[in-house]
Amino acid sequence: SAARERYIKKTKTVCTYCGVGCSFEVWTKDRHILKVEPGQGPANGISTCVKGKFGWDYVNSGERLTSPLIREGERFREASWDEALALVARRLTEIKEGYGPDALAMIASSKCTNEEAFLVQKMARQVIGTNNVDNCSRYCQSPATMGLFRTVGHGGDSGTIYDLEQSDMIIGIGTNTAESHPVIATRIKRAQKLRGAKLVVFDIREHEMARRADTFLRPHPGTDFVWLTAMSKYILDQGLADHDFLRERVNGLDEYRASIESYTMAYAAEETGIAQDALEKLAREIAASPGVSVCWAMGVTQQCGGSETSTAIANLLLVTGNFGKTGCGVYPLRGHNNVQGASDMGAMPDRVTGYQKVDDPLAAERYRREWGVTLRPERGLDNTQMVEAAARGTLKALWLTGEEMSLTDSDSNHVEASYGNLEFFVVQDLYFTNTARYADVILPGSPSLEKEGTFTNTERRIQRLYQVMPPLRGTKPDWEIYQAVAQRMGADWNYAHPSDIMDEIARLTPIFAGVSYERLEGFGSLCWPVAEDGTDTPLLYRDRFHFPDGKARLYPAEYQPRVKAPNAEYDLHLNSGRMLEHFHEGNMTFRIPGVAGKSPDAFVELSPELAAERRVTDGQYVRLVSESGAIRLRAVVTGRVSGNEVFVPMNSRDAADAVNRLTGQNKDTLTNTPAYKDTRVRMEVLSDS
Ligand code: SF4
Repeated sequence: SAARERYIKKTKTVCTYCGVGCSFEVWTKDRHILKVEPGQGPANGISTCVKGKFGWDYVNSGERLTSPLIREGERFREASWDEALALVARRLTEIKEGYGPDALAMIASSKCTNEEAFLVQKMARQVIGTNNVDNCSRYCQSPATMGLFRTVGHGGDSGTIYDLEQSDMIIGIGTNTAESHPVIATRIKRAQKLRGAKLVVFDIREHEMARRADTFLRPHPGTDFVWLTAMSKYILDQGLADHDFLRERVNGLDEYRASIESYTMAYAAEETGIAQDALEKLAREIAASPGVSVCWAMGVTQQCGGSETSTAIANLLLVTGNFGKTGCGVYPLRGHNNVQGASDMGAMPDRVTGYQKVDDPLAAERYRREWGVTLRPERGLDNTQMVEAAARGTLKALWLTGEEMSLTDSDSNHVEASYGNLEFFVVQDLYFTNTARYADVILPGSPSLEKEGTFTNTERRIQRLYQVMPPLRGTKPDWEIYQAVAQRMGADWNYAHPSDIMDEIARLTPIFAGVSYERLEGFGSLCWPVAEDGTDTPLLYRDRFHFPDGKARLYPAEYQPRVKAPNAEYDLHLNSGRMLEHFHEGNMTFRIPGVAGKSPDAFVELSPELAAERRVTDGQYVRLVSESGAIRLRAVVTGRVSGNEVFVPMNSRDAADAVNRLTGQNKDTLTNTPAYKDTRVRMEVLSDS
C-alpha cells in the first residue's frame, strides 16, 4: 500500500560477494531487509544470483562484534573505542620505533571499498613508512595479473561482460563459473543459446558449465600451459595465425616461436591426457573463429605455474588476433567483490595506485607532493612473505582487515602458528573469526550496507554503494577506523566523507584521473582507465596495448609441472573451490539461516570408481590426510569428479576441518600465490559413521 511504501527506504548498493559486481536497490525498513531488486545494474541488468538476492542477513547476525576487544591473557575483554584505538596507535608506534617500519605490515580487505583499501596502503606507506602491504589477490588472481602485465600491459579483463557475451567462442579454463560467478555464467549461457556461441570448458571437474559445454576436455591437473602453448605453435605452423595483427600490433614473434619449438601436439596429448586430434580440431576452430574469449580462475592460477599459464593464455589470443574488439579477449574472473579494486588501490607490496611501481620517479613525485613523503623504492612483503616473516620472528606487528586468512591461506596450521608469533596483531572484522583468536586487539568494522564508497568489479567497472542503514551500534565504517588511528599516530588525515578520499585517489592515479563521486551518481559507472574529462574505457587495446610503443609482447613463458603429484603414500589429488551458496570460508554465508540450512557443511566429493574401490558409501565419514594436516568430512559420491581426484569446498563450518589444513607451502614461483590445487592426500575410511 502507499502508506507502507512511505516507510520503505530504497537504496542503491553493489553486491558484496563476487567480482561480477551486480548492483541493485535494497528495500529496507529500519534494519530489516525486505527485498533486493535488480534492474538498472550496468553489469547485471535484471539478473542476480542466490547470494545477491538472499545473502544479506549476515549484517543482522547476533554474532556481529559490537565493541572493540582487547586481549588479556587467554581471554578478551570489551573496551571503548578510545581505549582500543589509543592502544593500536601506541603499539604500532612503539614497534616502529623499536624495530623499524619494516617490522610492521598491513593487509587490506577485498570486501572493503576502494577508499578503504587506499587508506590501508596510505597507513603503511605514509604513516608507518613500509611497503609491507598486500591484499587477498595474492591468493587468487595475482598470477593472471602477472601474465597480463607481461603480454598486454593492464592487469584486468580486456573488455566488459557485454563484450564477453558477444564472443563466437568462449573458453573457460579452471573456472567453475556457474557457482563462482553466476551472473557471468548466465551471460555465457545466453550467448551459447541465443547467438550460437561455442562454449569450450577445460577442467578436471565436471561442473555445470562443463556439462553445458559444446566441448568439455579434462586435462591432467596443472597441465593447461602445455595444451595452450601447443595450440599456439600448431596455429603458427599451419599458417592459421592472424599475421596482420601480429605484424602490426605485436612484438617478439621470433623469440616466442623459438621458445615453443618443443610443444608439439603429440607432447601436449601425452602430458594432458587429451587426445591429439581433439586438441588439433579445437586449435583449428580457435584460429577460424571470428572472436574468442578466455575466462579463467583458480584452476589456472593456484598452481606452481599459474603466472606462466596465464601468460600462455594471452600468447594464444595474441597469435590469433583476439584483442582490441568486442567479442574477444582475456577475462580472469575476479573472486571477491572488490579484489580488483584492492589491487587497483595499491594495496600491493611493489605498486601504488593504478599499478604505478613504487620505484617509478613520476609516481614518487606525485606522491611526494600529495603526501609529503618519499615512497620507498624497494618491494615490501606480500601476504605469503608476511606469514614467513612472522614465523621467523622478523615481522612483529600485523593489522589485518576483513579476511579469514588463517583458513583461506594455504597450510592453515602453519599460518596459525605464525600469527601466534606476532608481538602485536590487530584484526578488524565483523565477527569473532578463527583468525581473530590470535589477535591482541579486535576492531568491529562495518559491512558494505552500512557505509558509502566504491567497488571495482572484474570488468574494471567502478560503482558507488550508498549507505543502506547506519553502522550497527558499537561498530564503525572501516575508513573511519584507519583515520582515527592515523590521527593518533600524528598524521594529518581529515576526510569528512569517502568522496574526499576518491578525490585524492584521482589526483594520484592516472588511470583514475577522471573518477569522481558525481560521475558515479546512482547506477552510473566508469571502467578504468578514466581520462580527466571522464571518458572511460570499457574495451581495452582498441588501438594500442599498454606499453610505451603501444605493441603487445609475445612472452616466452616456461612450463612448470606440478610438484605434488600423487605418490604411493598420498595417492589422491585434492582439488578445492567454491560452492554457489557459500562465499569463501563461509563466515558471512553460514550466518544466513536460509543458506546455512540448505548447505550446512563441507564434504568431500569422491568419484564412483574411487568410492567402490575403497568401499565408501555416500554419507560415510572419511579422514583426508596430507603432509600438512588432516580433516574429517562426509563423503559425497558423484560423477563430477573422476578417478583419484577428490574435491572439497573451501567453506567449512568447523575451522578444524577446513580444507586448507591440507594444502601446503608450494607456490606460484613469480607471485608467491599458494599452489592450493597442487596438493596430494590419502584417505582413511572411518568406521565411526
Ligand atoms: Fe553477487 Fe556475484 Fe551473485 Fe552478482 S553474481 S549477485 S555479484 S554473488
